[in-house]
Amino acid sequence: MSKNETDIIFILVLKRHQFMVKDPYLILLIILFPQVISDFDMTLTRFAHNGMRVPTTHNILDNRLLINEDCTKKELLNTYYPIEIDAGRSTEEKLPLMVEWWTKVHELLIDQRIRKDMLARAVKESSAMLREGYKVFFDHLAEHHIPLLIFSAGVGDVLEEVIRQNHVFHPNINIISNYMDFDHTGVLQAFKGQLIHTFNKRQGALSHAAHLRQVQDRPNVLLLGDSLGDLTMADGVTDTHNILTIGFLNDQVEERKESYINSFDIVLVKDETMDIPNAIVKYVTSSRYSK
Ligand SMILES: [Mg+2]
Repeated sequence: MSKNETDIIFILVLKRHQFMVKDPYLILLIILFPQVISDFDMTLTRFAHNGMRVPTTHNILDNRLLINEDCTKKELLNTYYPIEIDAGRSTEEKLPLMVEWWTKVHELLIDQRIRKDMLARAVKESSAMLREGYKVFFDHLAEHHIPLLIFSAGVGDVLEEVIRQNHVFHPNINIISNYMDFDHTGVLQAFKGQLIHTFNKRQGALSHAAHLRQVQDRPNVLLLGDSLGDLTMADGVTDTHNILTIGFLNDQVEERKESYINSFDIVLVKDETMDIPNAIVKYVTSSRYSK
């Protein structure tokens, strides 16, 4: 395909979608030495399908194979999720409550003595679903040797299983997430390392991503997220030149629209597809300057 044809397809895809973009020229700036840094839950995975919420990596663990039905994890979600997305509260206000939520959930999971050998089945039985067009996204990045850093406040072991079962766990992928620590009999005994929640990705980026060479070699970043906290995921890239940010606004659209438009370069409203990121990635790789 010639460069002109790619340009036309790119513009057509952008026109077909309902989205808002602050500065379209930013797309041109990430062509050289690009990398992608993406959140996982509700960014690479769908928010809903046929009117039903798609489970997050934490929610996938709500399977009878892994935890008791009377486990109070759902009650925690009902208490803390409205706080996480509350446009009326500041990040500072939310932060201690998010730590409280994640800590309580992880303690509950440890109490449930989750078995490692049951994780793959729990993922298979779940309605976990990557966004439409995910295969093009993952495959295209891998084919063009563009690193993809998945930065998730979810559960790394479950995340890996989801992408593995969808056949897109390619070698260009690095993952920073909360990983389970199993004892010698394969029973969950703790979570490894520093806790990552929605609003401390900056610290996570500085302590983890700073050590990843692939991340440091690529100063131009396409960043995907669905939470304002995701905007700090590239803070571990020491020499960032340009960052193009795409925000998926899945829920509470009217209440959060303004803050999303002010914070992300492109905002996708209730879009369950990867069409826009795919168009941008293809545009970037079709450039003769890309490497
Ligand atoms: Mg998310």
